[in-house]
Amino acid sequence: MASRSKAKVVDTFATLHATRLHARAPRYSTRTDTPEEKSESKPSGAPERKPGIQAGRTVMPTTYEIVCYSCGYGFVIRGRAKTTQCPKCGARLGLTDETITGAYTEELITAGRVHLKPTAILEGGKITANDVVLEGTVKSGFVHAYKTLELAKRAKIPEDLFEARSLRIGPGAKFAFNKKLNLRNLELQGELHADVTADGMVSIHAGGFFKGTLEAEHLSVEEGGGLRGDISVRSAATETETVKPESGDATPGETPPKDKTPTSLQDAPPVIRPL
Ligand SMILES: [Zn+2]
Repeated sequence: MASRSKAKVVDTFATLHATRLHARAPRYSTRTDTPEEKSESKPSGAPERKPGIQAGRTVMPTTYEIVCYSCGYGFVIRGRAKTTQCPKCGARLGLTDETITGAYTEELITAGRVHLKPTAILEGGKITANDVVLEGTVKSGFVHAYKTLELAKRAKIPEDLFEARSLRIGPGAKFAFNKKLNLRNLELQGELHADVTADGMVSIHAGGFFKGTLEAEHLSVEEGGGLRGDISVRSAATETETVKPESGDATPGETPPKDKTPTSLQDAPPVIRPL
């Protein structure tokens, strides 16, 4: 059995997702205890037969959580596609991922992900996406992330030029905002000074630090992370502290470097519901 690394709360969070994703997925190949019942003879080399988050990983590429940028409704689709239709409002949604590397002044809208590289400069354009990764600079314009806005170490963005459902501060990054942030999830691998209300999960990882006023439903502070300020957690303790025995398998070996490869697993809000 692989060693359990990092904090349990991370496992719990990952397990929640893995369990949820797995619960939605067709049940296959996670248990082979009953060979007489079903023998799906996979082609040799099929990598699916692993427990825990491996099952989630196997399932994950085919399951995407989308938030409609027309009406805000959240839903799940399976499989890759360039567009989809919102089941609630009927809007046709683009799903492409985009990368911006230079000056940008246009309007870009997608239910996929937009990555503004370190050389990217937003100068009057508007970025609307489910997920936005900002490594570059926002001078003017606006960034709206319907799911998660990730701010990397050298990102620059005035606080009045973004709106995000969830916020992630990357390793080594440090941001201070005066405006009150109403978020679903907050994930800190870097530092944030702000007043935050979060109705989802607040995760402070090693190297992460929060300072300010925090009102959260769920809070997890990993060893090496810290916080200071006026903290209020009105959590049902069972939800954040329940660590299922299987969760040890959720992170076999080392914890994946989520700062390098943000995945929809981490991006995903714990509960899908209309905003
Ligand atoms: Zn819609």
